[in-house]
Formats: sequence, structure tokens, C-alpha cells
Amino acid sequence: MMKVPFLDLRITDETEKRLLLDAVERVFDHGRLVMGPELNELEEKFAACCRRKYAVGVSSGSDALFHSLRSLGIGPDDEVITTSLSWIATANAIAMTGATPVFADIDDDLNISPQSAARLITPQTRAIVPVHYTGKICRIDEIAAIAAQHSLFVVEDAAQAFKASFKGQPVGSFGDVASFSMNPMKVFAACGEAGCIVTDDPAVYDKLVSLRYNGTVNRETCIMPGLNGRMDTLQAAILLIRLERLNALIEKRRLIADWYNELLADVVTTPVERDDCRDVYYTYTIQADDRDNLADFLTSREIETKIQHPILMPDQPAYAHKVKGEFKNAARIVNRILSIPANEKITRQQVEYAAQCIREFYG
Ligand SMILES: *Cc1c(COP(=O)(O)O)cnc(C)c1O
Repeated sequence: MMKVPFLDLRITDETEKRLLLDAVERVFDHGRLVMGPELNELEEKFAACCRRKYAVGVSSGSDALFHSLRSLGIGPDDEVITTSLSWIATANAIAMTGATPVFADIDDDLNISPQSAARLITPQTRAIVPVHYTGKICRIDEIAAIAAQHSLFVVEDAAQAFKASFKGQPVGSFGDVASFSMNPMKVFAACGEAGCIVTDDPAVYDKLVSLRYNGTVNRETCIMPGLNGRMDTLQAAILLIRLERLNALIEKRRLIADWYNELLADVVTTPVERDDCRDVYYTYTIQADDRDNLADFLTSREIETKIQHPILMPDQPAYAHKVKGEFKNAARIVNRILSIPANEKITRQQVEYAAQCIREFYG
């Protein structure tokens, strides 16, 4: 047996550790612990990566999504269409503005079905929040076309997909606003909580800057109610170091995905990358018959797996009592998904072992 961890968040690379500690020390030395120079530098680089004019660093991906929606004026009496399958933060951000989340079905790629989203549009609909789930870019061109036709905003929940691209255009460059998470599990990860928002609209940018600091301008005048949600300078400093090696990390994940595809495609449903897309594999998620027994079997072989996410957002107790939407395909698929170890630290040998155990399970 061979242990195959789903994730390993320890910093084991001595070079990386040294660079991070030096960056932390620089922040200790200048003392600007909030809104320090590293945050500005990160925001500039982040915006450039997304080919956007502006980026606003915030304290988490949840915060990023909530502020994104508020910056567009979304609130009570509005409906916002999103996917059924995501981390609950997506629906919560919508609900916390006072708007009603409306849950669209998913396609076999685990992403929002544009056709389903179109069917759910009503006179109350103000925005669509597609998620690039698992780091796989959704059918963003179709979503954007539907939104344009009905004068709706598009807010990309790109929490799992920084640096993914479609026809060479990066995630985050498609919506009116896009939000990102850099929590420690994400491919582009801080050493704690962090998030970011990008946009091209100067008025939206001003609102976002205000929203992340109690709805104030010039620190003292409050123009709208808000909470404090700024990114720590320390996290920005850490992210600047990690941005340098991000492409290599993504390449490793894409390589691992290739290995699994080749070893598993005939026994389970493996993720399919569309021709014009470059996915980043936040998770490598298969769809499998007899999923729960497969997961137990892999656990017994010391292969750590995760079901991300086991409960559809519309089925969560917080939403189930007054749910709006349609999610027939999602209800079927949610019982088949399983994410297997694909973090950048695992080796070809571990991938072969995991694949061999999956094949063994299916006899
Ligand atoms: C991680 C994640 C979030 C929330 O980000 P946090 O930084 O954990 O608050 C939102 N949406 C999706 C799809 C995510 O994966």
C-alpha cells in the first residue's frame, strides 16, 4: 500500500519556504500590516493576469462574491441565477445581498447548463453567477450571450479557476465582475484566507474599494452600509511569491490529469477538456458507478478522496424550504462525483497506484 493524500498543505520545499519567510519579514519590517505596498502590487498583477483594468483584494472568496454582487446594486426583490452544484458560498453570497438565488441545472461537465439558465429568466432576474467548477471553464460564451440578450449582469465565480482560459482569454475577463478565492485549498493559495475581485468599470471599482472598508470613502465618510473585508498585507506578500511558480503548478496538475485520463477513461467518466479551453484542475473529479463503495474501497487502500460537494446547494436545509430552479441532471450526477488526489505534490507512481486501485474495484 502507498499513502496518497488528497492535499498536503505543509510547505516542504525549502526554497519556497525561504522566499515566503523573507517576504513575511519584509512586511514585519515596514509595518504596514493592512493595505501595505504588497497589496497594490498583487492587485496590479492580478488584474493583468485577468486582462482587467482593476483588481480589489479582499479577505476571502465569499467576501469577493458578496461584494461583487453588491457593487452591481443587486439586492432584495432581485433574482440571481446560479448553478446547483457548487460550494455553498456561491448561493450564500447571493442570499446575503437579500436577493433570491435561482438554481439552474448542470451539464455533464459539472458546470451550469446555459439552456437551463435561460429557461429560469423572469422579469426579476438581474444577474447570472456561473461557477467555473473544478477549475474547468463553463460555457461562458453562451452564458454571456444569454445575459446580453436579457440585459443581465454576469458575475463569474472564478474561485476555483484562476488562470484557466477559453480561446486564449483568461477566466475573470468575461463577466462584468469576477471573483476569486485564494484560500489554502485553491491552486493559487494564500497561507490563510484571501480573495480578489476584478472589473473594467471604474464606478464598480470605486464601489468595491468602499465596500471592503465599511462602505466608506476616504476612511471616514460612510456612503453605504458595509463590513470590513480587506486582505492582509501578509497574505498579499505570500501570494506575490506564489504567483511566480503558479504556472508550473498548473502544468503539473494538467500533467496529472493527463495521466489519470489515460489510465482511467475506460472504467469511469473522466473530465473532458474542450478543444479551446485550458482547465486548471482545482480538483480532478470523476463520475463513477457505485461511488460510495468505490470511495470506501479507496480509503481502505490509503487513497484519500473527497466528494465535492455531496449536497446540491438547493438541497441544503438553508434553501430547500423555498427553493427556486431546476436540477434534475445535477441530482443524478451529485451521487456519482468523486474527486481523487491530483495535487501538485503527488508522483506518477502514486497516480498509477490510485488508478490501479480504481480498476481493481471495478474488477
Ligand atoms: C472556495 C470557493 C468559494 C469561497 O471562497 P472562500 O475563500 O473559501 O471564502 C466560493 N465559490 C467557490 C466555487 C469556491 O470553490
